[in-house]
Amino acid sequence: MQVEKNKVVSLTYTLTLDNGEIADTATKESPFVFIHGIGQTLPHFDSGLNGLKAGDSFEFDIDPENAYGVSREDFKIHIPREVFSGPDVPADVLEVGRMIPMQDEQGRPMNGIILHFDEERVLMDFNHPLSDQRLHFKGDIISLRDATPEELAHGHVHGEGGHHH
Ligand SMILES: [Zn+2]
Repeated sequence: MQVEKNKVVSLTYTLTLDNGEIADTATKESPFVFIHGIGQTLPHFDSGLNGLKAGDSFEFDIDPENAYGVSREDFKIHIPREVFSGPDVPADVLEVGRMIPMQDEQGRPMNGIILHFDEERVLMDFNHPLSDQRLHFKGDIISLRDATPEELAHGHVHGEGGHHH
């Protein structure tokens, strides 16, 4: 059996950025388990694993364009400071570099990082935290199996490392 569409893949990985920072890991004790080829991961992550077998190692890079994108200036937005005041908001919420969960006009959740603030407004960056980053993935395939029809219908893995419901 090899990694291909509709296989459940269990693997370890380390995600390292160009500056050497480790952004994410999945370990043998707590592996990343997903259905290959159905959009659960970055498409280039799926394709980087194509044809591998249990026990194989992998190492590949994904450019920003194929990962979390190139940052956009128009995703840096000034917001009136009064949005950050009120009975439910801690007085010290404003801190440069802090990530704050917000909503867009349609009520969809989006995270913003505070870049700057003054008495009147707060400049927030809504770009993905990993935008502009080249991703270096390195890891090992632990196991492979066929996804069940139920898992394919749900679009996620059941049981070990997946959903329990
Ligand atoms: Zn399910």
